[in-house]
Amino acid sequence: MAKEINCLCCYDIINDENVVKYMIFDDDKWQNYDYCLSCVKYLLEHKWYDYIKGIKYPDCEKNFKYLLECGLPKYLTVDTKYHSIVIKKLYYENSEKTSNLITSLSIIEFENLKKDIFEFYTNFSGITDYLFNIKILLQKYNL
Ligand SMILES: [Zn+2]
Repeated sequence: MAKEINCLCCYDIINDENVVKYMIFDDDKWQNYDYCLSCVKYLLEHKWYDYIKGIKYPDCEKNFKYLLECGLPKYLTVDTKYHSIVIKKLYYENSEKTSNLITSLSIIEFENLKKDIFEFYTNFSGITDYLFNIKILLQKYNL
């Protein structure tokens, strides 16, 4: 009997019904993802919003700087961390899917915000009221 694999997020057993496969570049081999289908769907829907929440209401300055350094996330990664290997394609429910995180922005708005966050990080100074400034920036995008 094969060893049971559990989802790293919810600990459910991963089986034929809830398995998700991924590729990190075209023509790579499909690999089993360490997360079950419901967790993958949840991550695709929430990961980007979690990032926005993280820079809008950071737990601490260290985490805030880490998020700014990672930049605005666009894709799901192999271990779901922001600074990690990006997944190119996902496979579940009998078809290939993109690993694009769901956002409230258009492609142009996304690219502009990504650039703005990069500039914010580049000019980051602990002396300015950065939390106020990041909220002003996010308001430009109705976030
Ligand atoms: Zn799960």
